[in-house]
Amino acid sequence: MNNGLMIVISGPAGSGKGTVIKELMETGDFVYSVSWTTRAPRPGEVDGVSYRFVSVDAFRERLGEDGMLEYTEYCGNYYGSPRREAEAVLESGKNLILEIEVDGAMQIKKKFPAAVLIMLLPPSYAVQEARLRGRGTETEDKILARLDQARNEVVLMPEYDYVVYNHDGGQIACAEDILSIIRAEKCATARHPDAVTDYFAQDN
Ligand code: 5GP
Repeated sequence: MNNGLMIVISGPAGSGKGTVIKELMETGDFVYSVSWTTRAPRPGEVDGVSYRFVSVDAFRERLGEDGMLEYTEYCGNYYGSPRREAEAVLESGKNLILEIEVDGAMQIKKKFPAAVLIMLLPPSYAVQEARLRGRGTETEDKILARLDQARNEVVLMPEYDYVVYNHDGGQIACAEDILSIIRAEKCATARHPDAVTDYFAQDN
């Protein structure tokens, strides 16, 4: 059976990553990789859904068993993508979505060259800034810190395979772009190494 695709989606604050991924999940064609994190749950976050919330010791133990595909320390907390769970999804032929930041994405790119890396972005830095300010929920310091962080993330865009821009209200268009990318990737000749042999071996 063909393995599923490993799909990495990164996007800085203001890229609308959460809503676009929600759209993708509604197609039923993807499994979301539930990361482990040592950060505290935010109000409304349920353990095992968006994250598995674990202690630093539990995280380190998993890491010691080579139990993470990748991991990073971000804003003082560990985040990692659990290996066994990911392998089970891919072996079942389903596509796996890893919603991770750039450091983790670069680790995946190195270890799993067949992974598809997609960066989701606001149309411009100016729009990103306006979106973050428009939320009106954060202090100026926090906004500046997030913008700074975003700047460091966006400069890694050329390392990704694809960039998808999220225009205002554009989450459905973004999800469609990503679905097109996945369809094309599935047809890539490099993903069909036995195609010629199989072609001649088949009776019909
Ligand atoms: P938050 O704490 O806001 O949920 O996530 C902070 C950042 O960590 C986001 O950019 C998110 O994509 C990233 N992230 C979440 N899970 C993982 C993971 O397993 N590995 C890595 N490298 N980054 C992650």
